[in-house]
Amino acid sequence: MVTEYGNYVGGEWTDSVSGETFEVRNPAESSEIVSRFQDSTVSDAESAIDTAVAAQNDWATVPGPERGSVLNQASQALEDRKAEATETLVREEGKAWSEAAGEVQRAIDIFAYYAQKAFDLGGVVKSSSGRDKELSTRQEPLGTVTLITPWNYPIAIPAWKLAPALAAGNTVVAKPASVAPNSTRILFECLDEAGLPDGVANYVTGSGSVLGDPLTTHEDIDGVSFTGSTSVGTSVAQAAAEGLKRVQCEMGGKNPTIVMPSADIEEAVEAVGIGAFGTTGQSCTAASRAIVHEQVYDEFIEAIAEYAESLDVGPGLDDPDVGPHVSKGELESTLDYIDVGKSEGATLEAGGEQLTGETYDNGYYVRPTVFSDVDNDMRIAQEEIFGPVLSVIRAGDFEEALALANDTDYGLSASIITQDLTEANEFLDRIEAGVAKVNEKTTGLELHVPFGGYKQSSTNTYREQGDAGLDFFTATKTVYRN
Ligand code: NAP
Repeated sequence: MVTEYGNYVGGEWTDSVSGETFEVRNPAESSEIVSRFQDSTVSDAESAIDTAVAAQNDWATVPGPERGSVLNQASQALEDRKAEATETLVREEGKAWSEAAGEVQRAIDIFAYYAQKAFDLGGVVKSSSGRDKELSTRQEPLGTVTLITPWNYPIAIPAWKLAPALAAGNTVVAKPASVAPNSTRILFECLDEAGLPDGVANYVTGSGSVLGDPLTTHEDIDGVSFTGSTSVGTSVAQAAAEGLKRVQCEMGGKNPTIVMPSADIEEAVEAVGIGAFGTTGQSCTAASRAIVHEQVYDEFIEAIAEYAESLDVGPGLDDPDVGPHVSKGELESTLDYIDVGKSEGATLEAGGEQLTGETYDNGYYVRPTVFSDVDNDMRIAQEEIFGPVLSVIRAGDFEEALALANDTDYGLSASIITQDLTEANEFLDRIEAGVAKVNEKTTGLELHVPFGGYKQSSTNTYREQGDAGLDFFTATKTVYRN
């Protein structure tokens, strides 16, 4: 029996007016249909927006502590369902069990974090023109916002948009990615269980190319928060800006790790390896380029190739090092890029093929792949592959390494492995990336500090997570009280 799930609108689980559903399959075993979801229409999206707009005034007047209490209870509800949510995530998205459990924990923590923030929005400051005056700022809700999210972190990313949006008093319509809508659904069940008033948070599934237009241009929405590819994000930003909506797009990356001669090569290999192959390379912050000083280049290549070959690839439920790609389309895209790398003249050092055999035949597996002799102009060094493929590029010195690191349209995350403090500080000053790390992998984020990109990785206006995560969802009103 395959469970069919509804949209969540006005506190009810409802069917689309289309009467159609679409299926989601397990990427580790594609014959397994995990569940079915509503193939929603424009009119479904519009009625979810109308519902959210109607609920907005009431939710905005709920005192912050009460909003925070709902988020705390939703956090607890998710904690109670952690094992189930982890399994749901693994079965629809494919990531290894421990990575999925970490992602669910992140969603639990984010709800708890923004629950606390709901208590103390705004502030009071003294006036410069007399003791009989008081100035204050109020962080008011932006209004009704739509949230459009990708499949690669299908519970953490919706959580890090939903929690600040609700904490600040907004109402919401969320559309998850169509290959992985099931984990996001659990968040809405938790909010329902926590007593969130009907209509405040709504969830609509279906194709982005159908629902994208109403969700970005409807006259009654006040903001659009999108995470996904740069190509879709660019069209979302343009459509939303035309209607003078506030818009935030967090998009792709081509993240470099620079390895300098002073680095401990074992540590460098681990940072690059986990960054490149963790979550099957399907992370916006994945280390897809290693820029290695020529003094340690050969040593690094040998060690990273050995590391890649040693990784255990398999179904996420077995908690391997590397799981399958999320879909056949993503698998084919990675295999195409491997062909591109070969035809561009890069040297294949490890992997480079689809895995076959009993464990692999019905899933979307590629052996972690390392290319050396990559020129930074090659497509494999410039385009986001979104699979477990690492391009290693040689640099003659620090200046060249930094120039190569910055020679990309993207600017999401970047790291350097070095024991030289001056080099590290120079890197932090001059790297063009929203997240800059020293002696760390490019992946991995802490929830209480801002996250976002430079260049084509982001609209670069608002940040997500941390205190800054509230900025997009609030409008500041300055009050003078005499
Ligand atoms: P995507 O294809 O751009 O899809 C993202 C979301 O947009 C999905 O919900 C999709 O719906 C929807 N969508 C598709 N067409 C649309 C349209 N015309 N208008 C409005 N929405 C539309 O991205 P993805 O493949 O899911 O995710 C991978 C990408 O996300 C990578 O580029 C990765 O780097 C990026 N990402 C960035 C961050 C970050 O914080 N910077 C984090 C994670 C991922 P359907 O699924 O129905 O098509």
